[in-house]
Amino acid sequence: MHRWLAAISAAAMLWIAAGAASAAEQEEAVYEKRMELYKKAEAVSLIPWYYFAAIDQYERNVRQVRRDLPKPAGVLGIYMKPEIWAGPLNKNPHDTDPFTISQFSGLGVDGDGDGYARADDDDDVIMAMARYLQTYGIDHRHIKIALWNYYQRAKTVDLILGKARIYKKYQTLKLDNHVFPLPLGANYSYRDTWGDARGWGGRRIHEGTDIFAGYGVPVRSTCYGIVELKGWNKYGGWRVGIRDINNTYHYFAHLNGFAADLREGQIVEPGTIIGSVGSSGYGPPGTAGKFPPHLHYGMYKDNGYTEWAFDPYPHLKAWERAERQQRRR
Ligand SMILES: [Zn+2]
Repeated sequence: MHRWLAAISAAAMLWIAAGAASAAEQEEAVYEKRMELYKKAEAVSLIPWYYFAAIDQYERNVRQVRRDLPKPAGVLGIYMKPEIWAGPLNKNPHDTDPFTISQFSGLGVDGDGDGYARADDDDDVIMAMARYLQTYGIDHRHIKIALWNYYQRAKTVDLILGKARIYKKYQTLKLDNHVFPLPLGANYSYRDTWGDARGWGGRRIHEGTDIFAGYGVPVRSTCYGIVELKGWNKYGGWRVGIRDINNTYHYFAHLNGFAADLREGQIVEPGTIIGSVGSSGYGPPGTAGKFPPHLHYGMYKDNGYTEWAFDPYPHLKAWERAERQQRRR
């Protein structure tokens, strides 16, 4: 390589490294700002911060995949519709006067003392949520009732309370790390089989990626999450479903068996062994050997109304690559 070319590429590398550092720093600052808001709400309401973190994270993920909701303006994901914020009978749905809002039973409040209750101001929004929850009570049972009345959907309440448990356990918001479902040292192969007509995943079109490997190769949780499902299904065989903090459901099918201590409701983290590769399925419980051993891995997303499958292949590739790079360091 020419010297000048080497110099240019070295400069480019530095520039890229500096850019990456500042992006990481920005992300760090956002996490800090969010935690600050949750802690502030906790101090005022006596409701633990992780409930606010869970509500916020749930709504952020819903907004990311819904077109009918505006994208967040600040660091929070919580979105209160104008009629909820200003009050259902308020003639001005964009009212920012805390007094008239309260007259119309709107949830909007002035959280930062600037005299306005703004639905796009993070301080006002988090305090509005805190005040709303507080009207029911500050213990788990009452928070659950408040969430039910607010969202009117059992699944949403479950998703939020699941996240609250995870945040409580790890005491951090940074739970986005993922790993490949099989140990990278194992002998395995996979390709993009999304939408293939034939598969052993138990659905009409193939909703997932098949990762072929030998019997008994450990299967690991790909994320921080909660074991939402563990058991037998006619097509999936022995399978496990894990819900992560992004409203994503990770589905592992055709297992040979489960990790000894695995139970529904358990909190797992990236790399936690949940079972091993097998060929179970396509018959009554215990049926195996109707196809070569492999892990069927699927991903599903909840948007607050419904849940749909999306292609896990690009994610598998990215996690595999990231883990390889981490190992080399
Ligand atoms: Zn499959």
